Amino acid sequence: MGVFVKNTSTTVRGSGMTSERTRVRMVERLRAQGVRDEGVLAALASVPRHLFVDEALSSRAYEDSALPIGFGQTISAPYMVARMVELICAGTLPKKVLEVGTGCGYQAAVLARLIPEVYSVERIGALLEKTRARLWSLRIQNLRLKHTDGFQGLPEAAPFDAIIVAAAAPQVPPALVEQLAPGGRLIIPVGTHAQHLVLVEKLGGEVHETLLDPVRFVPLLTNLS
Ligand code: SAH
Repeated sequence: MGVFVKNTSTTVRGSGMTSERTRVRMVERLRAQGVRDEGVLAALASVPRHLFVDEALSSRAYEDSALPIGFGQTISAPYMVARMVELICAGTLPKKVLEVGTGCGYQAAVLARLIPEVYSVERIGALLEKTRARLWSLRIQNLRLKHTDGFQGLPEAAPFDAIIVAAAAPQVPPALVEQLAPGGRLIIPVGTHAQHLVLVEKLGGEVHETLLDPVRFVPLLTNLS
């Protein structure tokens, strides 16, 4: 399990807007929005979300909205993170998970609170390096990051009990389905203009797809930068 040291910047930057109480209020809101998994709620309560956005935006970090993180990318809204993590944790808790689209590392940090072995891949090298430094300062040890194209998954660490994709693909990438362990779950936003969350489950050698909530994500792109 990742261990968080108390980060002094919480106090330095800590107007009431970035305090633990603000996080508790965020979790109460998520509960009211229908998030039920207590483990997921506890993980969101423990990760200091304001440290994952620029200081100028830290007072807005706990609002239920996506926020810019530079490089034309966004940090997903708390509800979206809670919803997707809850979907991959339903039933048996996965032991090994792949996230595609590290971004600022917030969802990866939430996953690392819940799951023993977390891998996350990102296509923008400069963003990943910034995130690597942030996650290092938070002393998260059960998380491996790699600069690579998530359409290909991460074959060297496969199979995964669950895969969670943080950007929208035109179709479910076949490599990700291949890298799911039997009984594994993949959650991914699919679509170009209209997007939906799709849950892909590998059950008894068969692949089942379930169309879930309408969503809005940045696109999954192939070329590395
Ligand atoms: N997980 C983040 C959300 C990041 S937004 C959070 O916690 O808020 C989606 C991220 O996916 C962006 O950083 C984008 O650069 C990345 N991305 C897009 N296409 C990708 C690809 N093919 N492989 C890996 N990452 C990709």
